[in-house]
Amino acid sequence: MKGREFLMTAGITALGTLFITPLAELMKLSKEELLRLHAEAGTIPYGRLNKFAEQMVKFKSHVVGYPCNLAFNLKDFYTWFVNSGLCNLHMNNVGNPRKESSYLLNTHKFENEVIDYFASLYGFDKGDYWGIVTHSGTDGNMHAMYFGVNYIKSKVKTLPIVYVSAEAHYSIKRIADVMNLEIRIIPALPMGQMDTGEFEKVLDPSKPALVVIAMGTTFKGAIDDHRAVLKIINKKKPVAYYIMLDAALFGGFLPFSEYRDVVNRKKFFFHSIAVSGHKFFGSDEPMGIFITAKEVMDAQNPFKVAYLNDAVPTITCSRSAVGALKFWWNLTRNGQREYEKQACHILKTAQYLKKRLDELNYPAWLNPMSNIVFFKRPADWIMKKWDLAPEYDERLGGELAHEVVMQHENKRIVDEFINDIKKYLRKGNNKS
Ligand SMILES: *Cc1c(COP(=O)(O)O)cnc(C)c1O
Repeated sequence: MKGREFLMTAGITALGTLFITPLAELMKLSKEELLRLHAEAGTIPYGRLNKFAEQMVKFKSHVVGYPCNLAFNLKDFYTWFVNSGLCNLHMNNVGNPRKESSYLLNTHKFENEVIDYFASLYGFDKGDYWGIVTHSGTDGNMHAMYFGVNYIKSKVKTLPIVYVSAEAHYSIKRIADVMNLEIRIIPALPMGQMDTGEFEKVLDPSKPALVVIAMGTTFKGAIDDHRAVLKIINKKKPVAYYIMLDAALFGGFLPFSEYRDVVNRKKFFFHSIAVSGHKFFGSDEPMGIFITAKEVMDAQNPFKVAYLNDAVPTITCSRSAVGALKFWWNLTRNGQREYEKQACHILKTAQYLKKRLDELNYPAWLNPMSNIVFFKRPADWIMKKWDLAPEYDERLGGELAHEVVMQHENKRIVDEFINDIKKYLRKGNNKS
């Protein structure tokens, strides 16, 4: 149905059948045409929708190029959600979840429990942090940078320079752009880690520094050398500094692996961390978490917003209440032991994929602590069939692609993928 038709239909439905004749005259449509439109109004085209849904679900096991867990299950959540009547309610987590909200229909209690759980995992002490369930990893990064700038402004009067690796997620550069901050992009080593020698060279100690640690770069899954960065900061002593972890994907599984220390601020200091909720944990819609030290929160100067009880530290006003509730459901349903199993599964499966590619002498790489295997870009049909993401790096031979091994991938799927690579190799690396 076209836009105009739809508007007419909706209008007619609202007015009811009684007005059809005068409307027909007004709109210069025949009475029959109007009756037909009226009959269609509000009718959901289930045939079309079912076809669409079927296609999406079928594609699931072949989506291995992006960092989203597709093995979660929210069916019981939605059954409960509908039966409880909450599906016909607008809940909204606007405001500060740690303060009494004037909008009573919210899930702040559950949101706080999610944040409490993760704060302790990331090494924040009880009562020494603040955080929210965000819209996404990017939303978390945005809050991390905004909070960081306010924190630095509370110490010195100048704006910080943003230091970030060339291979960090583009959202950092985008947000620095939006905030009009000076940014120094540090070259990355061939395996994707920030070149800390370069960082040391360009770090200007006369200006405050906002340093982004990429905790798993988007394409190569590289973890910046946090220890070296801290050492350089201690040595060059910038007038003020703020360190944020962009741990969108890795912040999900690392706390449940033997590498948990790298996301523990007691071991490697940071002021704030942003993680995606739909990547490792799995969710039908984007979400995330942002947690920062109380010291940073206390340096914020929230704008007075009387109608929201005066304290809105967030950039975004309305925030998803259902998202926070789903996250809480996910944590409660799975728990630490299940996440440990999943973390082990994705790391092991990534190693298996790397091993299988090595056996074929197919150029492939895997960083330590990572579930991302990157390799020479195969034929287009493989790229499409497996929904692989492309990248280019001269230092590694040019055209690349990667697989992000998530919970829905297993050895059987890896083997099927490897068979495709074999087919491609037999054809003599023919691109098509
Ligand atoms: C995915 C990703 C982001 C962006 O997260 P969204 O939840 O997609 O907004 C940021 N940083 C890194 C390292 C990522 O992998």
